[in-house]
Amino acid sequence: MPSNEVTAANHKIRLMNPIDFHYRPICSAPGCQNPAAYKVAASWSDGTSWELKNYGLACEEHRATQLARGKANRQALILGDGEVVGQVGLFELHANVRDAALKRLIDQT
Ligand SMILES: [Zn+2]
Repeated sequence: MPSNEVTAANHKIRLMNPIDFHYRPICSAPGCQNPAAYKVAASWSDGTSWELKNYGLACEEHRATQLARGKANRQALILGDGEVVGQVGLFELHANVRDAALKRLIDQT
């Protein structure tokens, strides 16, 4: 396992939540072992709180296919009262960065 030291040293941004070391996330595409570079997600709100609904992770190679899968899953989602879900998009994935700080890459309908 690679040490966490390199990852930590390369991240200048420190956020409030406790640093949470995980293995480097892997792309969610079947059989793919590439490190994930993007999170496929949609903003979700119940009117009072906000979070990202996660539809999987994608490497550079699979970002288009994973995005398409996420969009298909999004279509199948049944929303409860007051729930709002935005478009599924790709978010740059950074170790130890909270969802709210992730940058939305593609925001198209
Ligand atoms: Zn992949």
